[in-house]
Amino acid sequence: MSKTEVLPHQADRGGPRQPLILAQNLKKHFPVRSGLLNRQTATVHAVDGVSFEVRKGETLGIVGESGCGKSTTARLLIGLTELDDGSVIFDGDILGSDISLKEMRRSVQMVFQDSYASLNPRLTIADSIAFGPKVQGLSDPKDRARDLMARVGLDPNRFAHRYPHELSGGQRQRVNIARALAMSPRLVILDEAVSALDKSVEAQVLNLLTELRKEFGLTYVFISHDLNVVRYISDRVLVMYLGEVVEVGPVEAIYAKQAHPYTVSLFAAMPSMDPDNRTEEPPLAGDPPNPIDPPSGCRFHTRCRFAEHVCRDKPPTLATFGENPDHLAACHLRDPSSGHSLAGKEVAA
Ligand code: SF4
Repeated sequence: MSKTEVLPHQADRGGPRQPLILAQNLKKHFPVRSGLLNRQTATVHAVDGVSFEVRKGETLGIVGESGCGKSTTARLLIGLTELDDGSVIFDGDILGSDISLKEMRRSVQMVFQDSYASLNPRLTIADSIAFGPKVQGLSDPKDRARDLMARVGLDPNRFAHRYPHELSGGQRQRVNIARALAMSPRLVILDEAVSALDKSVEAQVLNLLTELRKEFGLTYVFISHDLNVVRYISDRVLVMYLGEVVEVGPVEAIYAKQAHPYTVSLFAAMPSMDPDNRTEEPPLAGDPPNPIDPPSGCRFHTRCRFAEHVCRDKPPTLATFGENPDHLAACHLRDPSSGHSLAGKEVAA
């Protein structure tokens, strides 16, 4: 595939300093019915005022417990789920205004966890990869598919005419990666894309993703619950809790010293073979609160052992932590400008 062949809206227009994605105050609330005869309606606060940027050429890891809003955030970025509020700006263009959903979905591709469900069982592997380019009217879709198969480690002579059920999970995920690349995207969102693979296959696919990012000049958003995998592949990490961002920063800064008590607890549960890396922090206890009725103030206060009155009354905002201006955390304990001193309750990390 020619790496110079780009689609409209896919050239780098704003230069390297302009974020590829600027997500501003994203909100998504889902109505749910409950009670007798399903007459009561309630609202799940899936994503509640999430703002962040994805820089060109980086891998941004998004972590958090299941139900924290990681996948909904990814779907909002690409327009697969409609925003209730907020905006997504792609390389300077506002989604839905300057850039259409159709163009956005071409520039941003997703790879999901379930490699089988992502493929049409009636299409051969080559036809699956060629489908998108063919619909877009790109030249030589079949040749493009065969080139990409070779690039993701699948011999086109052996695999082009096979069907998804004839492949292993790792091979199917390689097909899904090739399908994403066939659209010449600028951003690929990997939503738990390696979580279902065996550890040895997972390592091979992670290495492949790293090579492809360099080769095709891609940017990744990598969603995972596996902190070791996120550390391996990411440049920066964003931590979500109950629909909000609680910490964001460079991977080396966050893995060296977590700022937010939630992140500290999350990392305490991370398995480590290195005794020097083990933490004395207790792992997170209990389940997250109901997203239908999230706690007031800091949403983590019901599980935080450092919580004080201020935490119940006032939501913390993201503030710089430590010496790296890129490392931010939303915690009264960490924000000297909050006016509330929780001094003496230092979080061990
Ligand atoms: Fe804990 Fe308060 Fe910080 Fe929230 S703001 S994480 S409750 S110390």
